[in-house]
Amino acid sequence: MIELTTSYLEEAIEDSRPFAASGNVNMNLPNFDETMKDRLGVSVITTDLECYSAGEHRQFVPMQSTSKVIGLMLALQDFGKERVFNAVGMEPMGDFFNSISQLESYDTTKPFNPMINAGAIAVSAMIKGQSPENRFNRYLEFLREITDNEKLDMSEDVYEAERANGSRNRALAYFMHSTGTLVTDVEEALDLYYRMNSVMMCCDDFARVGLFLARGGRSPRSNERLIPSNHLRTVKAIMMTSGMYNSSGHYAVEAGFPCKSGVSGSIIGAIPGRMGIGVVGPAIDEKGNSTAGGALIKKLAQDLGLNMFGEN
Ligand code: GLU
Repeated sequence: MIELTTSYLEEAIEDSRPFAASGNVNMNLPNFDETMKDRLGVSVITTDLECYSAGEHRQFVPMQSTSKVIGLMLALQDFGKERVFNAVGMEPMGDFFNSISQLESYDTTKPFNPMINAGAIAVSAMIKGQSPENRFNRYLEFLREITDNEKLDMSEDVYEAERANGSRNRALAYFMHSTGTLVTDVEEALDLYYRMNSVMMCCDDFARVGLFLARGGRSPRSNERLIPSNHLRTVKAIMMTSGMYNSSGHYAVEAGFPCKSGVSGSIIGAIPGRMGIGVVGPAIDEKGNSTAGGALIKKLAQDLGLNMFGEN
C-alpha cells in the first residue's frame, strides 16, 4: 500500500490525466470549452483533518448531479426514510441518468432511485421551506456548513443554462405529475433542482462533502451531528449502487466505496472512517462520468487500499 502524501497525489494526477483524451467537455455549461479538457484536480481530507491536494484543485465547476447527495440528505431529514422511498425507489438503473422510458416501465411509476434526474426532481419536491427561496437557502446553508465554506453560491449563468436546456427535466417532472408521483408544484420543484445543480464548488469543497459522509455527519464547525447515522448509511448505500450513473456496478467493483459524479466532471468520494475525496476533471464519457477523474478514483482505491470489499 502507498502512503498518502501530496507528491503521491501529484503523480497520480499525471498518471490519470491522459484519460481525459477519451472524454468530452459538456459544452452546455457556461465557460466549459476545449481548454478545460485536460484539467484534473483532487483533494483528499482525512478524518484526522489532514488535507492533501494536487492538480487544478481550485477549478470551480457547477455541482450538477453531485447535488443529488445533498438533496437526499435534506429530504431524509425532513420526511424520513419511509416517506422518501414511497416516492422514489432505491434500485440501480441500467439506463442513462435522464431516461424517460423507465418511468413508464417500472411497476409503480416511481423513479428507480434518487441519483437519477427523475428521482432527484421528486426528492427536491420533499425539501421543506416556507417559500422556494427559503428551500434553496436551506440547501445552501447546509452546504456551506458541511464544507465550512461561507462563500459557496449559485452561478446565475449556470442556472440560466439549466433552465434553457431543461426540456428533458421538465418532461420528466410533468410525466411524474401526471402519474401522481410528483404532487407538489412542478415548476417549483424544477426550479429548486436547477438551482441545486448550479452551485459552484472546487475539489476542496467536494472532498469536504465526502468527509461529512465519512465522518458521521458531523459539522466541521461545531462537531455536532447534523444528519443521523441511519440516514447517512442510506445515502452512502445509494451512492454505492447508483452514484456513478449506469457505471455504478463498475465503480463498486473497481473503487469499492460510495461515489457520486456530475456532468461537470466532478466526483465526491466517501470512505467511511477514513477520508473524503473531491475530484474535478471536466472531460466526461457518454455515461456522464469524468474519464480522467474516474481513472484517478480507481487508482487511489487501489494504491491506498480504499476498496471496502478487500484488497487486490
Ligand atoms: N443539469 C444536468 C441535468 O439535470 C445534471 C445532470 C448530471 O450531472 O448528471 O440533466
